[in-house]
Amino acid sequence: MDTSYENIKNLKESGLQPGTASVSERLQELSGNMDEINRVKRRYPMKITSYYLDLIKEKDDPIWRQAVPSVEELEDNFNLEDPLQEEEHTPVPYLVHKYPDRVLLLVSSKCAMYCRFCTRKRKVGRQEQIPMDDVFRAIDYIWDHSEVRDVVVSGGDPLMRSDSEIEAILERLRSIPHLDIIRIGTRMPCVQPSRITPRLVKMLKRYHPLFMNIHFNHPNEITPESSAALSLLADAGIPLGSQTVLLRGVNDDPQVMKELMHRLIKCRVKPYYIYQCDLVKGVDHFRTPVEVGMDIMKGLQGFTSGLCLPHFVIDGPGGKVPISPQYVKEVTPDQIVLTNFMNNLYSYPGVKKEGNRQISNKNVRKVGIALNLKKSVYGNERFDKYSEFDDLETANAIRLALENAGYEVVLLEADSDFIFSLKESDVDFVFNMAEGIHGESRESHVPAILEMFNIPYSGSGVLTQAITLNKSRKKEILDYYDIRTPNWQVFRSTNQKLNPALKFPLIVKPDAEGSSIGITNDSLVHDIVSLKKHVSKVLKDYDQPALVEEFVTGREFTVSLLGNPPKVLPIVEVNFDHLPAHIHRFDSWEAKWIFDNPESPVNPIICPAELRPKMKAQIEKVAKQTFEKLGCVDLARIDIRLDKDSNPHVLDVNALPGLMPDPKMNSRFPKSCYAAGMSYDEIILSILKSALKRYNLHLDPVEGRARGRGGRSRRTVPEVMHVSTDSQAEGSVQAPMP
Ligand SMILES: *Cc1c(COP(=O)(O)O)cnc(C)c1O
Ligand code: SF4
Repeated sequence: MDTSYENIKNLKESGLQPGTASVSERLQELSGNMDEINRVKRRYPMKITSYYLDLIKEKDDPIWRQAVPSVEELEDNFNLEDPLQEEEHTPVPYLVHKYPDRVLLLVSSKCAMYCRFCTRKRKVGRQEQIPMDDVFRAIDYIWDHSEVRDVVVSGGDPLMRSDSEIEAILERLRSIPHLDIIRIGTRMPCVQPSRITPRLVKMLKRYHPLFMNIHFNHPNEITPESSAALSLLADAGIPLGSQTVLLRGVNDDPQVMKELMHRLIKCRVKPYYIYQCDLVKGVDHFRTPVEVGMDIMKGLQGFTSGLCLPHFVIDGPGGKVPISPQYVKEVTPDQIVLTNFMNNLYSYPGVKKEGNRQISNKNVRKVGIALNLKKSVYGNERFDKYSEFDDLETANAIRLALENAGYEVVLLEADSDFIFSLKESDVDFVFNMAEGIHGESRESHVPAILEMFNIPYSGSGVLTQAITLNKSRKKEILDYYDIRTPNWQVFRSTNQKLNPALKFPLIVKPDAEGSSIGITNDSLVHDIVSLKKHVSKVLKDYDQPALVEEFVTGREFTVSLLGNPPKVLPIVEVNFDHLPAHIHRFDSWEAKWIFDNPESPVNPIICPAELRPKMKAQIEKVAKQTFEKLGCVDLARIDIRLDKDSNPHVLDVNALPGLMPDPKMNSRFPKSCYAAGMSYDEIILSILKSALKRYNLHLDPVEGRARGRGGRSRRTVPEVMHVSTDSQAEGSVQAPMP
């Protein structure tokens, strides 16, 4: 039978190749039933060369699966027509420009065979041959783009065009001075080896450097015929590379792949890529988990020569991404730990860099500020979601305070990339302000990570941060130590009975929030109905238990403590006199964030509070006890309220108090410090100093390492770097990294 190209070309587009009768007869013979095949064919065309058909040994074998339609193609409702988004990277028809220096030129819409898993399934076999004029126009684009030094001539299959058409294309391409490399991507050596004629090869070798990327998926495709075709090409000095698509039921097996690579290299074909199957519609039944490809790579690396090693890649809208099994297990400044192909571990020593910092010298030079920057709330997010987070003004004020003291400073946004930025930053110490982003123990996440990396940090540790965020746990501990706290009950559902010992009015709060989050004016309830209503609101909106507390009616204070053991700073009294009549006298969201603003005519914060010495001593004692029993270190803010008999009750403990620098903002911890005569820089350095002392580290940064800030006096008024309000409004503010 004559299967030479010139003959094939003249055959009808009936979906079948020379010997039409024998192809359908043979399919019928193998499948026993053509109905399903015919049904799929109507949606996705079928074409099989009689040569390839002869390689099928039985129904559903690896060759069959690649060539013969399967009903599974119609069942795929998941994948996309154009998963690589090639259409978006098509500046002129039939040309894809996705990478800086190379383009894909599509010169044929036809193939000798339609592979069932084809990435261009949406196009191949559906249209008339691409007009040569369009191909030439696409080539003009390459002319006009001097950055393009490499072209992949593909399709369809370029070798579906006649020798003279191919030559016309190559001639035009070769005349482009900046184009170094021409590659032809073809499946002909695999599916129609007779297309590789001496005449074709003789023509091709006139256009060197010319490479050919061929496509083989299974060892059974390497036959005497295909080997002969590959020999012709290799003898013409055409470097051959292979591409293989990883296909379920075809080659998803390390042994099969190894065999294929061995046979290819014997034919002088260098294995180039193994592709993870694309997300093409109609192809889902061929997809394997990515791990299968990684296992195949593991089965090749070390077990066979580097000559037989392709790259395993996932192609996507962003281009090809290599996927490699992990051979690097650990990287530290001292060594890199590797595994070899037998899973044995080896160490390769690091190169000692000059000035490699040693934490053991006890000098802290570089300080990271861990924090969560305020973002604007989006869509369905709770209006108060980020109210505990810090603004850029605070971040910059802390940064300046530390820089003025000679430290190098990095801001570390405590989001899910924190571990990476922390490692990269190489800090000796972390000034922790991070409120945490997820979960009931979120304030303890940064301390936990820092302990894991053995990096010292300021403020309370993991356990204390977790407990102080949980109001009821905290109250249980206070109870245990006989420290007064208002009587309470935790509601986990609205069906719970109210403990009869609790007396109205009651306050309903989310059990694990700070900064008055979830405490609004109507959180104060006087009867069962409104209690239930509010409990249900907290359960729903805050997705956590509700703490119900007796309302203690006396004066309210905030006590700031600093150092270890702590010094009590001048006490703040929270003044409710400025509130309109309908706003209850307690520290609700409204009182704290709406009626306490810089424009407020009445000072909502009195510091130092006017207190008789005995009362003052009593409050200070309770605050210190609370600090100590809850295991706070360095700093904390404790909210205390008097009952009608003037007994102090602990309402809340904040181990991560806000540190807003602007006195007008009434940030309570700095307010107390200012009343004690401290500057903002001194507040920050005192916190740092307490922490460093705990770790037995030196306060002064290493001489000479400090940034050149000589001559600048320490400022007493906090100066804030100008921050554009735009960037804050944008919401996705990232901590600036120096
Ligand atoms: C694969 C591909 C190329 C060639 O990439 P190489 O990694 O150089 O082989 C060029 N353009 C597109 C669009 C491709 O998909
Ligand atoms: S030869 Fe290539 S382009 Fe043609 S059908 Fe097969 S995979 Fe698709």
